[in-house]
Amino acid sequence: MEAPPLIGRFAPSPTGTLHLGNLRTALASWLSVKSRGGRWIVRIEDVDRPRCDASVAEAQVRDLAALGLESDEEVIWQSRRDERYRDALERLHEGGHLYPCACTRKDLQRLASAPHLEDGLRPYDGACRSHAWQGFDAALRFHLPEGEVAWDDLALGPQCDDPAALTGDPLLFRRDGVFAYHLAVVVDDGDQGVTEIVRGADLRSVTATQMRLQEALHLSRPAYAHLGLVTAPDGSRLGKRGGATGLDALRARGVRVEDAIGWLGFSLGCLDHPEPCRAEDLIRRFDWSRVPPGEIRIPESLA
Ligand code: GLU
Repeated sequence: MEAPPLIGRFAPSPTGTLHLGNLRTALASWLSVKSRGGRWIVRIEDVDRPRCDASVAEAQVRDLAALGLESDEEVIWQSRRDERYRDALERLHEGGHLYPCACTRKDLQRLASAPHLEDGLRPYDGACRSHAWQGFDAALRFHLPEGEVAWDDLALGPQCDDPAALTGDPLLFRRDGVFAYHLAVVVDDGDQGVTEIVRGADLRSVTATQMRLQEALHLSRPAYAHLGLVTAPDGSRLGKRGGATGLDALRARGVRVEDAIGWLGFSLGCLDHPEPCRAEDLIRRFDWSRVPPGEIRIPESLA
């Protein structure tokens, strides 16, 4: 049987300007597939509508294009794909994987946003597992099967997690009609034929949970790479003050796009020193075995 075409993706949530850490992830996902003749797509993860802004998404796509990273397919928006998510919920229900959950609204609030490390994941204890099915008017959780999940991470090497201990049964749907990040990301990667997912190490801990969901939906498992986070020169997280290292802010401080790409390429092990270049110059130099593991600090010149 022929191997499926290699398809990578970058899937930002439009909640803020792409900072250097996000741009590094985007570049790595692009280089990884382009260095092996694959295709690369951008997807806007705006399933959490109230926290997302279309103009932010458009600026993200523009910033990626400024780096030379253009989607090989039409950019898709999660906010337009409710039908696909509902269809997946129906399939999960038919397979006996869902149960209604009576947790309070406060518990359910952040379901549509990707749970990054700083959100302090609390595993759900399965308190509502015995509840009888009441249809799609209830909040719905995915019943995680027992046991560990192993994968060979392109960036981190062999990994093994027990998703029940890390996240517990994830919520996939809220009574008011909001679909969860976990559901949307898995359904979209499946629909788009994504074979490789490169993202920040802060999402490593939800990977096994998403793999269980892929299994329940009979989707094939993509390869994963979780990149070490990029921090400010003092080691603090870029997340909160990310805009300060976005392309516009860098340009305003006189940093050229090719300088930023040079540092990103260096940080990914493609260059011995940061030197100005274009993304396409890095394609033939990219190799996962040279990508340094662990966190990386940006230099003062880019901070
Ligand atoms: N949309 C998520 C975020 O921006 C990323 C999800 C993923 O790459 O799987 O945090």
